[in-house]
Amino acid sequence: MKVDTSKCNYCGACVGSCPVNCIFLDETRIVIDENSCTKCGFCIRVCPMGAISAEWFE
Ligand code: SF4
Ligand code: SF4
Repeated sequence: MKVDTSKCNYCGACVGSCPVNCIFLDETRIVIDENSCTKCGFCIRVCPMGAISAEWFE
């Protein structure tokens, strides 16, 4: 998964959307724990800035 830091406004919506709590907002960036991610795609859909992408998501 990729987070485009030039688009992200640190709203935190993706953090709250993740059912397995594997997205973390640190002081300067979004961190996604890829090992815990179930590829549900919720974070990608919820992001108002279109900042999250993944090659498996269409
Ligand atoms: S795709 Fe789903 S499980 Fe993976 S980081 Fe996004 S919300 Fe969490
Ligand atoms: S939902 Fe999008 S804009 Fe908001 S913190 Fe997550 S990646 Fe950044």
